[in-house]
Amino acid sequence: MKRLAIAAVTAGVLCTGTTQAETFVTIGTGGQTGVYYAVGQSICKLVNRGGEEHNIKCTAPSTGGSVANLNAIKVGEMDMGVAQSDWQYHAYNGTSKFEDQGANGDLRAVFSVHPEPFTVVARADSGIETFADLKGKRVNIGNPGSGSRGTMEVVMNALGWTKDDFSLAAELKSAEQAAAMCDNNVDAIVFTVGHPSGTIKEATTSCDAKLIPVTGAEVDTLASENDYYAKAIIPGGMYNGTDTDTETFGVGATFVSSTNTDEETIYQIVKAVFDNFDRFKKLHPAFANLKEEDMIVNNLSAPLHDGAARYYKERGWL
Ligand code: GLU
Repeated sequence: MKRLAIAAVTAGVLCTGTTQAETFVTIGTGGQTGVYYAVGQSICKLVNRGGEEHNIKCTAPSTGGSVANLNAIKVGEMDMGVAQSDWQYHAYNGTSKFEDQGANGDLRAVFSVHPEPFTVVARADSGIETFADLKGKRVNIGNPGSGSRGTMEVVMNALGWTKDDFSLAAELKSAEQAAAMCDNNVDAIVFTVGHPSGTIKEATTSCDAKLIPVTGAEVDTLASENDYYAKAIIPGGMYNGTDTDTETFGVGATFVSSTNTDEETIYQIVKAVFDNFDRFKKLHPAFANLKEEDMIVNNLSAPLHDGAARYYKERGWL
């Protein structure tokens, strides 16, 4: 936890005799061309604008993604982070990837953000038309530590696939994968991400490529049996090369923290976002359709942080 108490020694502070310590907080995000990075940067932007009132200094560095963020929050390296709804659920309950380390009962939900469809993009010359066609191809399954990689493994397990089913299973970070596909080092990329996203824009404008539907009995079962998954559509016309809707399934991006981050800090952060909500929604196109009433309930499996609950009650939302 980067929380340094720095005694303010400016003349003004000395005159009034009130030394308010600065609180430094960090938000774990994802790769720089994803949407998590924009979530963290946007929250910090609004928080830091109000710095004179609350003395909170917020930074949101690029990270490996959901699972890395949840782990960093658990050990106190980060105060907050963005995480997929499936990995929030598993971290809180100590299931799936989190079974070995056990449940993190200190994890707290703050709010949910944008939907994240499980997104597959393939080179037009790869011959890939369906998810099943990925078999035998060169595919970027994502970096360990990303939620996206974890969800790809869930889908692979559901289909009975292993890494050996691909001629190459690359583990590139999200910010590297569009270039790798357009340089013809992989045939397809897999990324659970909000839309529109910089990565998918880059992948569909730097070379001929299209979105691939992710459908079938296994996917239907995943979506119907788990609350943290749902069927999803990536709208046609959003990206070059794909004019019709693409069917898939998806998760929700969520903003989480832990009981180790105090109530007042989370209250001020939530207040900075929701007191300036119209401004927040304009900071990235994937935020355009966000609604407050959904964000405080959808996709949250860990209990609400006390500081968030305090603000939502104050607004009459709870
Ligand atoms: N959902 C991705 C992950 O957890 C990150 C998406 C993004 O960077 O916007 O790895």
